[in-house]
Amino acid sequence: MTNLSMFSLEGKTALVTGANTGLGQGICVAYAQAGANVIGVARRSCQETADKIAVFGGKFKEIIADLSDTSVIPHIVEEAEKAYGRVDILVNNAGIIKRCDAADVTEADWDAVININEKMVFFLCQTFAKKWLADNKGGKIINIASMLSYQGGIRVPAYTSSKSAILGLTRELANEWAAHNINVNAIAPGYMETNNTQNLRSDEHRSEEILSRIPAGRWGTPEDIAGAAIFLASDAASYVHGFTLAVDGGWLAR
Ligand code: NAP
Repeated sequence: MTNLSMFSLEGKTALVTGANTGLGQGICVAYAQAGANVIGVARRSCQETADKIAVFGGKFKEIIADLSDTSVIPHIVEEAEKAYGRVDILVNNAGIIKRCDAADVTEADWDAVININEKMVFFLCQTFAKKWLADNKGGKIINIASMLSYQGGIRVPAYTSSKSAILGLTRELANEWAAHNINVNAIAPGYMETNNTQNLRSDEHRSEEILSRIPAGRWGTPEDIAGAAIFLASDAASYVHGFTLAVDGGWLAR
């Protein structure tokens, strides 16, 4: 008989970036339900996330930090370890998107997207992996990719570049760290109902175009990625390395 405790996150500590809303909030709630101590990093208050977790008595601590500059990393690590000791699971979820014709993208907008979606992801991975390599106790990294890790998209050149990089980076880091019991994987959400897709969903034409192409016939929700996020953070995924798992209502199968 399969031992389902392999999916439990009891006794583990997970740090999730972009924890105040959307997919990050969904992942925080799911991890707390699976038994983890959860640390949510965000620019704005995570009170809504904290409230959702308090309902069932889960453990949650917020750290306010702007992830556009790597100089915040030591503060995040210090606060996280002060709260719960060793961080075992890192979820790089925070991300931004700027929609604009490629011909009009400014250098400032390009840098803003790449800094949060790509550069910060690498340096957070590096920071925690260095600790895990030193204590030899392993760890789990889950990066949030996108359909635009596989496809080109349109009017989002920096976003597509950053999310395509996440797929490659996830493979690269897995190759370096798999032998040290560090699992680096990613989740590629499809089209989900969050702030990130607000503009898309309010454009009637684009919204209809997208919806009619999703085999599942609906936009995804933060709850839809909970199962994949728990799996990749758990002992059940110990031999899964460098893979980007799509949770997309069948979008890529089309
Ligand atoms: P969202 O609702 O816009 O949430 C993004 C999160 O990132 C928010 O918590 C946001 O905080 C945080 N964030 C952005 N810039 C930050 C900064 N400088 N410092 C700290 N936190 C920052 O979008 P979402 O859909 O949940 O997106 C989560 C992840 O999934 C992103 O990486 C996104 O690219 C990816 N994704 C989303 C979809 C989708 O359809 N929704 C599809 C594929 C991939 P603030 O609220 O303070 O800005």
